[in-house]
This record gives sequence, C-alpha cells and structure tokens, in this order.
Amino acid sequence: MAVRHTSGASAAANAMHELFPGARLIVAANRAPYRRSLGPDGEPRWERPAGGLTAALDPLMQGFGGVWIAAQPGEGQDLRVPPEAPRYAVEVLGVPVETYRAYYSGYANAGLWPLCHNLVERAHFRPSDWSSYRHVNRLFAERIAKVAKPEDIVFLHDYQLAMVPGYLRGLGYTGPIAHFWHIPWPPTVVLRLLPERRLLLQGLLQADWLGFQTDDSVDAFAAAARKELGARMMRDADGVRLLYQGRVTRLAAVPISIDTARVEEIARAPVTRERIEKLRSRLGLQDASLLLGVDRLDYTKGIPARLDGFTRLLARYPSLHGRVQFLQVGVPTRTEIRDYRRLAIAVRRRVSDINRRYGRPGWRPVRLVERNLTLDQLVALYRLADVAVVSSLYDGLNLVAKEYVAARVDGEGALCLSETAGAYQELRDAFPLSPLSPERVAEGLARALFSSPEERERRMAKLRAAVAANTIHTWLERVLRGLHEAAPQLSGENVTPV
Ligand code: UDP
Repeated sequence: MAVRHTSGASAAANAMHELFPGARLIVAANRAPYRRSLGPDGEPRWERPAGGLTAALDPLMQGFGGVWIAAQPGEGQDLRVPPEAPRYAVEVLGVPVETYRAYYSGYANAGLWPLCHNLVERAHFRPSDWSSYRHVNRLFAERIAKVAKPEDIVFLHDYQLAMVPGYLRGLGYTGPIAHFWHIPWPPTVVLRLLPERRLLLQGLLQADWLGFQTDDSVDAFAAAARKELGARMMRDADGVRLLYQGRVTRLAAVPISIDTARVEEIARAPVTRERIEKLRSRLGLQDASLLLGVDRLDYTKGIPARLDGFTRLLARYPSLHGRVQFLQVGVPTRTEIRDYRRLAIAVRRRVSDINRRYGRPGWRPVRLVERNLTLDQLVALYRLADVAVVSSLYDGLNLVAKEYVAARVDGEGALCLSETAGAYQELRDAFPLSPLSPERVAEGLARALFSSPEERERRMAKLRAAVAANTIHTWLERVLRGLHEAAPQLSGENVTPV
C-alpha cells in the first residue's frame, strides 16, 4: 500500500506512487542544483546557482529522492545533497573545457537561446559547436542509460539536451522519457534559420511526453514537426499527439511553478520581518515606494528599456523625486559571451546616468545589486517592494513573477508583467507591461504606482489564487499523469488522426 502524503507535495507524491510504483526520478539538466568547491581554507564550500529550473526541481528531488545528472567543464563530481541533510544524488559529468564551451556557451547559449527567444540577430551557429553539442548530449545519454532502469522515469530538461531522447533510444533504453522545454519554442519561420532543426526535432520526438510552458509553444512545435518532418498530428480530449516513424509523442502546455508553501513560510517568518525592517531603513524607504527587478543579467529580460522607462517616469512625474526607488538585482550570468558582458556594461552605465541626473543627497533613485541572493533575501525584498517589475522581451515563463505574488501574504503589492512572458498567460491580473519602448514601460509603471489600494488588492487576490492553483507540486503531478498516459509501455490508448 502506497504511503499517502498530506503536505503540499501530496498530489505529485501520490501520482508518483500510484502511477509509477517503485520508480525513481532520474533528472538530467545541464546544471547541477548544488556546486561544491574548496574554499581558500581548504574547507568545502557549497553554492546554489540562480535559475528557474534548479529552483523549481530541487524541492521535488528532495521529496522523492533519485538521481540528478548534470555536466560541468573539467572534472566531474558525485554529490549527496542538500549538504545539510542529503536526500538525493547528483552525478556531474566532467567535460573537457573546450568541448563544454562549444556545447554550452556556443551552440546552446549563443545559438539556441537567442533563436528560441526570437532574437535572431544574436544567434550564431558554428559547425564545431554543433559537434560538441552532440558529443555532450551523447555523454548524458550514456550516463542515463547506465543509471536508469526501465521502471524509472527519465525527466530531461531544456534546450541543452534536445538530442538526448534520440540517443537514449539508440542505446536501447525503453523506459518512459519526459522532456520539458523551459524556454519558448520559436515559430517555424524562425526555426528555419537553424541548420540542424530536423535533427533536433527528430531527437525530441523520441520522448514519450514533451512539455512546454505555453500553448503557443505547443502549437509552434507541432507545426514544425508537421512541416519539417511530415509528422502526423492527432488531437484528442487531452491535447496534441504527434506520430512520427511509428512513435507517438504527447505534447502538453504545463507551465512550471514554484514551491508556494515554502515562499509563504519564508514570507511569514519572524526573521523575514526583521530583515524587512532593516532593509527599509538601510534603503531609506520610510517615505518612498520601492520598485524591484530581479533577473539574471540576460538580454531577454529587457533591463535597459526598463531602466529607460524608469527615467521617463522620473522625467514625467517630478512629484516622484525622492519618493520612489528602483532596486535592480542583476545576477551575473554567461559572462563568457560578449553580448552578456556588453549588457552588464550598458546596465551599469544607465544606472549611473540616472543617479547622476536625478540623484541628490539622501536619495539615490536606482541601486544595482550584481550578485546572487538567497531565496530568504529575495522574499524579504518581495515583501518590501511596492511594485515588482518583470519586463522580459520574451521569457519561457518567469518564476520571479510567481515568487513575488506568493510572497505577498499581506495581499498588498503590485506586479507589472510583460505580456510576452509565459507567466502572463496565468497571471493576467498583473498590470500589463509592453516591454520594448521606454514610454510604454513608464506608462505601465505609473499605472501601477498610481492605482488605488483597492485595485491593487483586487488584482493581487486574483494573482494569489492563480499561483495557489498551480504550484510546483501540481505541475509535477500533471507531468506524471501526462507521461503515464503517453508512455506506450504503460497504456495502450487509441488516438484518432485529424
Ligand atoms: N534567483 C535567485 N537569486 C537571485 C536572483 C534570482 O535565487 O539573486 C532565482 C529566483 O528566485 C528564481 C530564478 O532565480 O527562482 C529565476 O527564474 P526565472 O524563471 O525568473 O528566470 P531564469 O533565470 O530562469 O531565466
């Protein structure tokens, strides 16, 4: 008899026990959720890298146990995590430095990342990067084939690992494979700029279940598979399936989410209250509103136009001078790529321009924090911020938007959210933001800042209901149920071609 869980994790845990008895979760993602290095004193030092994927999956792995396979340049390592109370294994593949660079900074991040975000002029594809990408995908497949038994669940993540399902099948692995694509899937006209698009589509179609953040991505993927490979599309009550070379793959739009209960718990903790008060006095917020941005320093996040929008806001509303502050957390990321270094310089320059132009003794309009904060620190900032600003040009989802809402256990605060972030599909009660033009950003910010407390509360109540309805646990439950229906070794349902 399966153990029934009663915590927030119950839905996913019960689905796991009922649908996949005895299975372990074998997660593969480029990055490990924890990194261990040696400090100058020779003692081990643990780090938790920023990023939506690791933040979302770590609590699940802690709940279920299993193995997380990742890669890094240089030596590999085997870890038991979390370090303070180990609950699952992390196996990090060591990849020669130059091969890793070509796979990760090259093909994945200088190629697929901008292309999938429709920023085609930033996308570069080098043939040698492609061969490294395939090589590393093969390494992942070989390790997974060694670790996973057919009754386990192989759960692959994101655009770094598109070829893994195909390679795994090639190695004879017959168990269920799910692959979740965390970033947008581009329209076919954009995908056609990618020389290897057919191989990537073929690789992905060896999974039983393919998850995306939005319906737009599901439709775009299905269209690409039809037009580029001649795959047959079938619709049934549960959505879309693709039939290609005798294999059926189910597609689903299942937007990822956060550990809502954990964020709320932090938000309510007395230590967070103390932290908020300290921050309030340190930032001089007694009579000022706080606008907050929290992002990796990535060009998809629209940070320069956001800061320009803030400048317009100050230019248009002198009454706000001294009464409003912008705090931008900008976590350094992918600094080995030139576009990212340039972005960091452009952001710093804007921040100092604004402060030079508008700042005065006792009021610094913008602060930039260029480091990775912990969730505890972020939640205190979320509680303090009158307005959270998410102005991504394109974003698969955007977990920060959901974290902000979950942290507002007081029912206050306002979320300004770009309509082109995947999260907007669920969070339509946010104040919408058009991210490209500074004028529009300024309008959106003004609308949130000058809205009535009633309007903010009404919107926040709806946003909180939306976030509560889809947590990381319900997300995983939907993935598991989808995979169970999709995997031919587990069900023999018929589908009707349309
Ligand atoms: N994050 C963090 N420390 C920071 C900034 C961000 O831990 O200083 C986390 C944040 O809590 C969120 C994730 O990084 O869970 C960012 O996810 P999002 O989907 O917003 O963007 P991504 O970085 O995945 O593009």
